[in-house]
Amino acid sequence: SSDEEGGEEYLFKIVIIGDSAVGKSNLLSRYARNEFNLHSKATIGVEFQTQSMEIDGKEVKAQIWDTAGQERFRAVTSAYYRGAVGALIVYDISRRTTFDSVGRWLDELKTHSDTTVAWMLVGNKCDLENIRDVSVEEAKCLAEAEGLFFMETSALDSTNVKKAFEIVIREIYNNVS
Ligand code: GDP
Ligand code: MG
Repeated sequence: SSDEEGGEEYLFKIVIIGDSAVGKSNLLSRYARNEFNLHSKATIGVEFQTQSMEIDGKEVKAQIWDTAGQERFRAVTSAYYRGAVGALIVYDISRRTTFDSVGRWLDELKTHSDTTVAWMLVGNKCDLENIRDVSVEEAKCLAEAEGLFFMETSALDSTNVKKAFEIVIREIYNNVS
């Protein structure tokens, strides 16, 4: 934190990781701009979006990074993780293979970021209950074993999107303030 006009300022870098097409870009656009895109392209071009929230009367800014599609080639660079203090590890509840990849994403996170203080496992597309492929119980189980927060979200209908980001931001704040 730094002093500016007597108040403290916080800026936290948060990364979103997970397999291709699990909804990472849409979670970010839903949170930062309240937008959803049915046919979103793999590459957006924007590296990150900044979103502010108030905690204890202080402005807390989250700089949230989105992969530009590198995850398709498992080529997310160490620069992407550098300085990150929070992470959302996303899978798609309707595609088991994306849940099976979570362990690998966690390994990558552990390798690249020593500063991360808040990690959340996110089961996105919970609106697709009728074709669910991963149960809430087993995801909870994995989250508990790995010491992660866990939440199911839907970028499509907005379920828990704001909540997921804010839990991570609050946890980081609690750890650094
Ligand atoms: P990314 O590759 O992880 O960034 O995934 P995208 O955000 O580009 O989303 C991939 C596809 O899944 C797109 O067609 C989105 O419209 C769709 N999608 C993203 N989030 C949701 C969601 O919560 N529910 C449903 N049903 N579809 C979603
Ligand atoms: Mg994307």
